[in-house]
Amino acid sequence: MKRIVFLGYPGSGKGTQSTQLSKEFNIFALSTGDAFRQMLKEGKGDVADQVRSCISEGRLVSDELTFEVVKNSLANENNDWILDGYPRNLNQAKILEEFCPPTDVILVDIDEEIIFRRLTGRRLAKSSGKMYNIYLSPPKKDGICDETGEELTQREDDTPEVIQKRLDVYRIETEPLVNFYQEKGILRTIKGDLAIDKVYNNLKEVLGF
Ligand code: AMP
Repeated sequence: MKRIVFLGYPGSGKGTQSTQLSKEFNIFALSTGDAFRQMLKEGKGDVADQVRSCISEGRLVSDELTFEVVKNSLANENNDWILDGYPRNLNQAKILEEFCPPTDVILVDIDEEIIFRRLTGRRLAKSSGKMYNIYLSPPKKDGICDETGEELTQREDDTPEVIQKRLDVYRIETEPLVNFYQEKGILRTIKGDLAIDKVYNNLKEVLGF
């Protein structure tokens, strides 16, 4: 059984890696960030307002609400799963231990300075969900998705101020999870500052796939 948690700075590439793994091995994957963004597209009211202000300021959404999302998404998943972006603090990690402990935790390791550049360069094709980076993986034509021809957009939390806040939140709240899972003997670290395919091959190797 594989229940995999991805840890790493925002922009470390964990989203790309978990999506690829999920597709190749047909494993259910949940990105809590994507789930919240989806919730905002559909939702109105107090809860949506709360989530919107957290995301736009780079703060974490409450542990209770986030666990609701995780619990509901995993309710029908008796087998393998991948979590990208959960847990994000010690309390969430303890909640997950009680609910359904992970078997493998992957830390996508990368320097904070590289991340800043990666995040400011990130662009998204909204309808296909395809991500580009104007420095690292630019589209063929500036600002336009290769696949759909749509105009690329920037995530509203990929602005320099909010990026800085998200990096601080990671360092202070999420990084302690590295020790937490190391002590459980289930942490594997892969280097995140390599070409996407190389990172992916290393990922499969450490997972024994
Ligand atoms: P991400 O796409 O993973 O960078 O997440 C975007 C935003 O969603 C974060 O900055 C938080 O506001 C919120 N979020 C995502 N995952 C969590 C989580 N596990 N706990 C609290 N907030 C989260």
